[in-house]
Amino acid sequence: MPGLELIGQEERKEVMDVMETGVLMRYGFDNERKGVFKVRQFEEEFSRYCGAGYALGVTSGSAALKIALTALDVGPGDEVLVPAFTFLATWEAVLEVGAIPVMTDIDETLNMDPADMERKISPSTKAVIPVHMCGSAARIARIVEVARSHNIRVLEDNAQGCGGSFQGKKLGTFGDMGIFSFDYYKTMTTGEGGMVITNSETLYHRADEYHDHGHDHNPKVSRAMEGRSILGFNFRMNELQGALGLAQVRKLDFMISEQKKNKAAIKAMLSSLKGIKFRELPDPEGDTATFLAFNLPDEGTAEKFQQALSAGGVDTVCYKKNAWHYAMNWEHFLAQSTANSKKFPFTNPMNNRTVQYNRRDIPQADDLLGRTLVMGINIRMPEERLATIRQAIEKAADVL
Ligand SMILES: *Cc1c(COP(=O)(O)O)cnc(C)c1O
Repeated sequence: MPGLELIGQEERKEVMDVMETGVLMRYGFDNERKGVFKVRQFEEEFSRYCGAGYALGVTSGSAALKIALTALDVGPGDEVLVPAFTFLATWEAVLEVGAIPVMTDIDETLNMDPADMERKISPSTKAVIPVHMCGSAARIARIVEVARSHNIRVLEDNAQGCGGSFQGKKLGTFGDMGIFSFDYYKTMTTGEGGMVITNSETLYHRADEYHDHGHDHNPKVSRAMEGRSILGFNFRMNELQGALGLAQVRKLDFMISEQKKNKAAIKAMLSSLKGIKFRELPDPEGDTATFLAFNLPDEGTAEKFQQALSAGGVDTVCYKKNAWHYAMNWEHFLAQSTANSKKFPFTNPMNNRTVQYNRRDIPQADDLLGRTLVMGINIRMPEERLATIRQAIEKAADVL
């Protein structure tokens, strides 16, 4: 839980700039706002940080996914490849635009397996959403290569990997579009919030218009007179979120470097233990180090090790048992319990086939997630906390 650990003076100052003008909305009120444009400034600094041409602040990471899929013209009749291991929002966003998610397996990176992704492509596949789970990169270069060769669009869900990179290039900039979440659990936070990035002017304009009822944001006319060419909705980020985002993005490199130190220390404690294997990182340099993931030889041993760590005051997550991050556990999804009583889009006649969701189609996810344990890494891990972890690990080693 990094960003929330550092809410302080800098955030207060940026928020107070907004409170002094009283203008909480990002658009309009040009006289009253006295030159304060926090969301716009946040977008500028964030896009520069990522090395992306355009950034659009929005209300959440979930909204960002829906906006990006809409900008990419993903809709009814389309299929979208998504990993079995991700937060539910990745899948929900696909359903929100009327498309059907197709489940892909993961590999030792705990992210989408490019080989399985290629196998799951059908004539209806319009896009793929690789997710950079738990702070580190998927095999993104290979995924983009496969997608390009099949004429499939790439949307990177980088909600959990903000600030991460692969071979020196920031995550979120490999695909056609990338999204981020700034909810309260994420690497940097604005309480709730999200961002869409892209290098395409066309995709940026489609996203920008859709997220604000179609407004074309023509600077030459007043907001009331702005034009529109597509229908949209309201996913606008407000100025208080923009202010928080500005303060937080300036701390992002510091957060990551502190987490890296703490993660390295804990990794060293585990590295001599028999049977423990660390998650494969396609580029350790680009890791954001928000989580440490390691696996054990089998589920039984993983469970015993987890219980022993817990007894020593150290909590880990086994995602195979987690209600929100593993597709096989989403009983409401598997039952097609959509909020609409017609079960749209599952029942859409534009769908070319009925997509199935079977455990046997994701053998690696089912195996790996059952014997992998994930530990959260904080920015602030004082010596006494690290000592507790060291003792818990030494004690837990007895079960191996
Ligand atoms: C958190 C998260 C989201 C959704 O972001 P919100 O801001 O909470 O809506 C999407 N994808 C992944 C992988 C996430 O972890």
